[in-house]
Amino acid sequence: MHYKKVTAEKTKSIALVAHDNMKKDLILWCQYYKEKLAEHTLYATGTTGTLLAKETQLSINSLISGPLGGDQQIGALITEQKIDMLIFFWDPLEAQPHDPDVKALLRLAAVWNIPVACNQASADFLINSSLFDQAYQKSIPDYDDYIAKRT
Ligand code: PGA
Repeated sequence: MHYKKVTAEKTKSIALVAHDNMKKDLILWCQYYKEKLAEHTLYATGTTGTLLAKETQLSINSLISGPLGGDQQIGALITEQKIDMLIFFWDPLEAQPHDPDVKALLRLAAVWNIPVACNQASADFLINSSLFDQAYQKSIPDYDDYIAKRT
């Protein structure tokens, strides 16, 4: 795979997702970092986004609920370079009806070199990184090169 450099701007698009048993943790985390998060564009799966908007008053672009396709919507946005970071508190102790979608989302985040936090501690490290509040250059697959080599 050939890679190219792109810049994630200072103002980031951040996707927020939490499985049911983890929603409380994500709400508390977003309340704690509300001021920082308010400077960025926020996306979330349906239930997570509705709860976050209610509990934090943050402005959230809520997609479809995860089990009904919301994880796949976020995956598609990652593929279109519209998401810069994924905060995904997934449940390590309970199977989900949409486990294939969860795996697909995590896979696309890896493909497109998206920073991912899977729990409160990793989310703390991401948001407190000096890179969080500045433009950041990263490598992503060079799609034009990819398709040219295959056709
Ligand atoms: P939800 O989806 O925010 O609609 O609960 C999250 C998920 O399970 O992916």
